Amino acid sequence: MISQQTRIPYLPARIEGLAAIAMNLWWSWSREARALFQSIDEPLWHDTRHNPLELLCRVDPARIAACASDSGFLRRYDDVMERMAHEADHGDTWFARNYPDLNGGTVAYFCAEFGLHNSVPIYSGGLGVLAGDHCKSASDLGVPMVGVGLFYRKGYFDQRLTLDGWQEDSDVEYDVSATPLVPAGGSNHQPWLTTVQTFGRPVHVRAWKMMVGRVPIYLLDTNLEANHPEDRGLMNKLYAGGPDLRLRQEWILGVGGVRVLRAMGVNPAVWHANEGHAAFMMVERLRELTASGVPYADAVDQVRSQSVFTTHTPVPAGHDAFTNDQIEACAGQVWKEEKGFDKEALFALGAHPALPGQFHMTVTAMRLSARVNGVSRRHGQVSRNIWRELWPNRHWEAVPIGHVTNGVHLATWMATPIMAVLDQHLGANWGDRLEEPGFWDQVLTLDHAKFWEAHLRQKRALSNFIREDARRRFAGQLKEAAQVVGAGTLLDPMAFTIGFARRFATYKRANLIFRNIPRLRRLLVDPWRPVQIIFAGKAHPADNPGKEVLQSVYQFTRDPAFEGRVAFLEDYDMHLAHLLVQGVDIWLNLPRVPLEASGTSGMKAGLNGVPQLSTLDGWWQEGYDGLSGWAISPVPEDGDADASDAGDLYRLLEDQIVPLYYTRNAQGVPLGWVEKMRHALRLAGSRFTARRMLREYVQEYYAPAIHGETSGDDPPTA
Ligand SMILES: *Cc1c(COP(=O)(O)O)cnc(C)c1O
Repeated sequence: MISQQTRIPYLPARIEGLAAIAMNLWWSWSREARALFQSIDEPLWHDTRHNPLELLCRVDPARIAACASDSGFLRRYDDVMERMAHEADHGDTWFARNYPDLNGGTVAYFCAEFGLHNSVPIYSGGLGVLAGDHCKSASDLGVPMVGVGLFYRKGYFDQRLTLDGWQEDSDVEYDVSATPLVPAGGSNHQPWLTTVQTFGRPVHVRAWKMMVGRVPIYLLDTNLEANHPEDRGLMNKLYAGGPDLRLRQEWILGVGGVRVLRAMGVNPAVWHANEGHAAFMMVERLRELTASGVPYADAVDQVRSQSVFTTHTPVPAGHDAFTNDQIEACAGQVWKEEKGFDKEALFALGAHPALPGQFHMTVTAMRLSARVNGVSRRHGQVSRNIWRELWPNRHWEAVPIGHVTNGVHLATWMATPIMAVLDQHLGANWGDRLEEPGFWDQVLTLDHAKFWEAHLRQKRALSNFIREDARRRFAGQLKEAAQVVGAGTLLDPMAFTIGFARRFATYKRANLIFRNIPRLRRLLVDPWRPVQIIFAGKAHPADNPGKEVLQSVYQFTRDPAFEGRVAFLEDYDMHLAHLLVQGVDIWLNLPRVPLEASGTSGMKAGLNGVPQLSTLDGWWQEGYDGLSGWAISPVPEDGDADASDAGDLYRLLEDQIVPLYYTRNAQGVPLGWVEKMRHALRLAGSRFTARRMLREYVQEYYAPAIHGETSGDDPPTA
């Protein structure tokens, strides 16, 4: 049944379960399942960027036949099948043990993007990857969750740089049959699950289902023949187009999302909006209640008590707002048809005292959620301050916004060789003992040489990838020599390597390290202690200042003065993110304080023993402990932040970081450096995993909401 949905050709009966494994993204965080696919055809595994469905379609049938009669392969196949069945069935999960009375209380998790694997390109960056890690951990812990998102036919965009480094955004429709998406539900006579009225006409909405371990995610899609041609293309692209398109997408996500869950018979006990894009989900539930006769004020109370809202940005412009006229055009029907819910009531939900006439998505979500949080300790604080006008009767520090610091999914982000070192040191079942007190302290006694060797393996893997990728691009589109250098072909696999990869938003300051060029040059081209930097990242298609920063960085990669020690890797995605956080020596992060809500890539690096060097912003403000990495000192009062941060950055690299890295024992192992690596691993493992994050959401947000406990916090009053 499953292979009917995909192009997977015939599989021998003995191993036909390979299709089922490939159809649940659980495989992507099972080491055994990944190794199984890799062993079918290793070059093809690399060539498909680890996409098992594509691998099964393209592999030589003779090779598959050989696997079906190879006893070693069959043993590993049976083992993976058993693990998958166990994962699906066993009821002895963290959630079941700790919350036996809550079983059945489903959490609906709404997000505009999900980053689960690069083979499903429906994410742009940090927010999506966080949502993906959230769902994976919910599956691991047995938290009953269902995700709701949008199906983007063309994903985000593919990044191509012109010869002079200007980013051009090309979009390619990806092949859905090479993803584990299957059409969800629907009856025999119509392919859609629900219909949403917007901009004066009905839009039919269908859904695709994607399994993430035990967690289903429904992705909404309007590309149906029955829809108006304009509405068919609504879901083409993520974060593209003007505000009207964006508004329609968010309307479909919120209103359509609730209705699709209802159509699927899912009846959530908690509704979590991850970022303001999903706020209409709360408005729709309010409409449901008032339409059924519940008085407006009671309906608001009910929606609030079951809603959780997480805000993700401290940058005011990063919050979506529309005009009331746009909302009226989009939502017209809401109040025209329903009793007790009029236009003024709707506008009031999204009103911000400083922005008359605007409908603010974050404000709406805060009005309709009894539980609101930011994503790091510092971001919680900053958010209380930013939104204080909404609670004029409270001191800003008492504004009811808490925080749950982000975390990353260990089994997704930790490299296999690092896991193998932990197997040796802690015993093969260490993954079952993560909850033991002091568990992570044990990594402080990891064997220096073994840990170092595992790291060097990852470093070689990155180096091979860069060379092969540059070769492929060179052959494919006749690049000039300087571009081939810029793509990293002259990097030295043994030199100290700094990694910097993230969205090219100007506040992230990718160009800060180029502030003093002679000083940087002295650092990089030292023949005895060479240093190199690898950059990657996309600028948002509409962000010209971000593209200018990218272009200036790109031009340095081609500057002969740096002798090929600065590289830019195109097309940052989860695949490249893996290679980088696992394969560089240090992770660099330079947000202008306090504009980074959390940042998560440094946590991924930490899980691989890669220490971080960062300003004290986002998660580093609470994570930095002096042992596991380095921090740029806070800017003095009235100081120039860029000058001060750059000065500190150079000083740390010159005086501490590079010398420590190159101080080796007789066997060539940098003992002091490995000490930092151990601490980086301990810090990330003990405090910054998605497992810890999810437990906090359950304990402090989901469980109380399911129990119907009030948060005691008042809604915004202004
Ligand atoms: C983790 C990740 C991000 C987010 O990284 P930040 O440190 O928050 O900037 C962005 N993009 C990809 C592909 C990622 O894997």
